[in-house]
Amino acid sequence: ESFDLMGLKDDVLHGIVSHGFEYPSKIQQKAIVPIVKGRDVIAQAQSGTGKTATFSIGALERIDPKLNKTQALILSPTRELAQQTAEVVEDLGEFLKINVHCCIGGVPIEVDMKKLRNAHIVVGTPGRVIHMMEEHVLKTKDIKTFILDEADEMLSRGFKEKIYDIFQILNSNVQVVLSSATMPSSVYKVTSKFMRDPIKILV
Ligand code: AMP
Repeated sequence: ESFDLMGLKDDVLHGIVSHGFEYPSKIQQKAIVPIVKGRDVIAQAQSGTGKTATFSIGALERIDPKLNKTQALILSPTRELAQQTAEVVEDLGEFLKINVHCCIGGVPIEVDMKKLRNAHIVVGTPGRVIHMMEEHVLKTKDIKTFILDEADEMLSRGFKEKIYDIFQILNSNVQVVLSSATMPSSVYKVTSKFMRDPIKILV
């Protein structure tokens, strides 16, 4: 198996190679193509399996670099994870002309106001993301891919309301990709309430 056979754009493949990846991990082999095709995907995977690159590659492949609007939103449970993920997206997307913005608490609102205007991909934590959506600073009209990373962590940290609110604001036909190490009923409820005919991948 190889990244070459996934039908990815040259610029994305170039980013993968220069990131130092030679062969896709198991989850990458199973999940990237369905994400790229626009399917809803549940990836039950621990960290260390390559899940960050899985949904990052999926998001990069789905967006149109020429459209200067936010097209993919990635939610993380912590500021640190959001920052790490934003770096991976930026690194893998090095050869696409796109902007990635990390939207997290602790950063001055003015920075979000400036950067969110032309961020193709936004990675953030639920609190600041919902805040920026409600202020109409983070525009949702062109978001077609919504990724929830570590959904079990987010729900156990009390972000249920905020996640549900974000789903209410997003386009109803948004593609949803959810990663979670475990599948407690709180996560299962999110998948059954907001995902359509998801592909489940367990690694
Ligand atoms: P993650 O599960 O996303 O936290 O990734 C765990 C580690 O695996 C990170 O250090 C990645 O850079 C690395 N990694 C992910 N995918 C690959 C790959 N296809 N080849 C080599 N290393 C990888």
